Amino acid sequence: MTETKFTPRVFSGIQPSGNLHLGNYLGALKRFVDMQGPEMETVYCMVDLHAITVWQDPKELAHSTRELCAGFIAAGIDPEQSILFNQSQVPEHAQLAWIFNCVARMGWMQRMTQWKDKAGKNQQNASLGLFAYPSLMAADILIYHATHVPVGEDQKQHLELTRDIAIKFNNDFGVDFFPVTEPVIEGAATRVMSLRDGTKKMSKSDPSDMSRINMTDGADAIAQKIRKAKTDPDALPSEIDGLEGRPDARNLINIYAALADQSVEQVLADVGGKQFGEFKPMLAELAVAKLSPISSEMARLMNDQAEIDRILARGAERARIIAEPILRQTYDIVGVVSSARG
Ligand code: ATP
Ligand code: MG
Repeated sequence: MTETKFTPRVFSGIQPSGNLHLGNYLGALKRFVDMQGPEMETVYCMVDLHAITVWQDPKELAHSTRELCAGFIAAGIDPEQSILFNQSQVPEHAQLAWIFNCVARMGWMQRMTQWKDKAGKNQQNASLGLFAYPSLMAADILIYHATHVPVGEDQKQHLELTRDIAIKFNNDFGVDFFPVTEPVIEGAATRVMSLRDGTKKMSKSDPSDMSRINMTDGADAIAQKIRKAKTDPDALPSEIDGLEGRPDARNLINIYAALADQSVEQVLADVGGKQFGEFKPMLAELAVAKLSPISSEMARLMNDQAEIDRILARGAERARIIAEPILRQTYDIVGVVSSARG
C-alpha cells in the first residue's frame, strides 16, 4: 500500500443492469467481502445512474437495484459495517461528475475500450451518458476520497482515467485534494470469461443467458450451463503452460480455482490429465455448493423489500456525511459560489 495523506478507504460499485453473475461475484463481490473489516472503511454502491447509460426498463431497474442490494448482503456485506447504498440517492456523485466532465478531455474518453465495445459501430447513436461514464465513475470514487478500488480487470482502464482526472484536477487548481487511487485487481478470477466464448468477458448485458452463471440460477441451470460450456477436445494439462492458447479451458480452471480458494497451480496438479467430461461435473458441484447458499439468502431478503429500502436509505445518509463536505470543498476550490448543501 502506498503512503498517502489520505485515510485508507475502499469504494466500489456494481450496476443494477441485469442479473448478478459469477464474474461479478468472483471479480468484485467476493473481494468486497474480503476487504471488509475493522481496519478499513468500506463503501459499496449500486450504481443505478451508470445502468441507465443504456436503456433500462424502469420497473426492472428498480427490481434489479433491490436484488443487487440483496446480493451484496447475501454474499457477506454487512450494511452496518460497510456503507451500502444506491448512487442516485447521493446527488453529490452526479454533481462532482459534472466538474470532472470539465476536467477530463474528449480524447481520454474516446480511448476507453468499454465505450468502444458498448457503443459498437453506431457511436453517433450512443447516449452522451455512455460516453461520459468514466467521468461519473471517477466521481463515485473521488467523492469519498477513496484510496483503494477493488474491481475486475475490465475496469483497469477506467481506474487509470480516474487517476488522470485526480492528477489534472490537482494540477489545474494547484491543490493536493484528490487522492491518486490504487486499483486492487487481484485473485484467480479478475476476468471471468463467457461460457460460450473464452475470449469475451462474462457480462450482465450479454444477450445469451447461456454465456453466464447467474447468482439466481438453481443447481440444474448451473449444471446445464457448465455441461454446455465451450471447451476443446484435449485433456486438462498439469501445468499452467499447458493452458496457453486454450482460453475456454483456462476460464473453467480459473473459475474452479477462485471458487475453491486455491491457486491455479494447485488445481492443475489435482485435475491434470482429466477430460472435460470428468472435470465439468466437479466444477458444477463446486459452483452449486458455493452459490446456492447465496442465492437462497438473496431470495429470502427479497421477501422484505421495505427492509431493503430502509437499508439503502440509511446507507445513503451515511454516504452523504462523507460526500457533502468533499463536494463543498471542491466547489470552493473551483470557485463556484455555493451554500452549505449541494
Ligand atoms: P454490464 O454488462 O452491464 O457492464 P457487468 O457484468 O460488466 O455489467 P458491472 O456492473 O459493469 O458488471 O461491473 C461490476 C463489477 O464486476 C466491476 O468491478 C467489474 O470489473 C466486475 N466484473 C464484471 N464482469 C466481470 C468478469 N467477467 N470477471 C470479473 N469481474 C467482472
Ligand atoms: Mg461492465
